[in-house]
Amino acid sequence: MDKPIIPYGRQHIDQNDIDAVINTLTSDFLTQGPKVSEFEKKFAEYVGSKYAVAVSNATAGLHIAVMALGLKPGERVITTPITFAASANCVRYCDGEVWFADIDANTYTLSLESTKRLIESKPKGFFKGIIPVDFAGLPVDLEEFRNLANEHNLWIIEDACHAPGGYFTDTKGVKQMCGNGKYADIGIFSFHPVKHIACGEGGMVTTNNEALYNKLSKLRTHGITKDNMEENHGGWYYEMQELGYNYRLTDIQSALGITQLSKNDEGVLKRNEIANRYKEAFRDKIKYQSLPDQTYNAHHLFVIEVVDRKKLYDYLRTHNIFAQIHYIPVHTLPYYKEIGYGDANLRNSENYYSKCISLPMYPTLLEEEQTYVVDRILEFLEEHTK
Ligand SMILES: *Cc1c(COP(=O)(O)O)cnc(C)c1O
Repeated sequence: MDKPIIPYGRQHIDQNDIDAVINTLTSDFLTQGPKVSEFEKKFAEYVGSKYAVAVSNATAGLHIAVMALGLKPGERVITTPITFAASANCVRYCDGEVWFADIDANTYTLSLESTKRLIESKPKGFFKGIIPVDFAGLPVDLEEFRNLANEHNLWIIEDACHAPGGYFTDTKGVKQMCGNGKYADIGIFSFHPVKHIACGEGGMVTTNNEALYNKLSKLRTHGITKDNMEENHGGWYYEMQELGYNYRLTDIQSALGITQLSKNDEGVLKRNEIANRYKEAFRDKIKYQSLPDQTYNAHHLFVIEVVDRKKLYDYLRTHNIFAQIHYIPVHTLPYYKEIGYGDANLRNSENYYSKCISLPMYPTLLEEEQTYVVDRILEFLEEHTK
């Protein structure tokens, strides 16, 4: 009998989700109806931001975030190489330059020290912004990044695609939920099915800044607004004030997003239980992502480092375990290699990439499936360290 496939991630859709979608399908609105604003309101409440703007995917959200912050052609932004390419591409959409700083060797998130070194090696005003990523679900300490950004007059976009439900604790002892807009100007979330909340495609942009919120709302829908115009002109009147896009989320997707969001806390809890079992099994044997004190990892991923990574990857596949690699460092992708911005030493990122492998991590992963995964890994290590 064939063993079932165990992927590294998988969405969880239940009857409640299905009913919500069917209700919207049979309602008057398929797009731009009441579900979009309901989802935005609930999402903002969940992360603790003042505003949220639903978008067609996180890549679109990143694009209008960089636009709203006013990046001009040739201006420079720093991000981490250990992320999905979209975290960097948004800068290129606006004809900006992407510079990379290194990751911390233990948390795998953008290193504050490396970012500081890069900024301080250039003249004042050289960089405009920083895009830290809550990699694997581990919340970046944005208070530290905000202090650095303030010294150099930089904006911050928090790419929180991996981290709805995660938080760090600031120096005042306050829990800061990912994407709450307290220290970052804008937060970005993805509702791709492999992430926590599945809408098929979808994303959310969060902020506490009203001016940014207004810009983001406009850019999402062609640069068009109707606000406060009816009185002078008539009910049909609108203005296109700048060049925007159609980056809207539908009501159907928003209905699904609402029911998915309501299960997120439970899902993150499950993910942490799974992470704890991995840690217990691997402690003192295999290196895994370290968790700073008072930080809650939302665990999109569980990443370990092993020397024979390629062999382990292939070995697991022969046992129907589809682990994955996150990520090929963005600065080594042919497109970025060719344009070649940046001169920082990215040794930690490259070392990490040579060893990293993401193990199955999703709320419906069964304990016996996880035990099977752990046993295969330990058995592989036994074989390969003899
Ligand atoms: C998934 C992801 C994105 C892009 O999300 P989409 O919704 O697929 O556009 C951006 N950044 C990170 C870190 C991601 O993991």
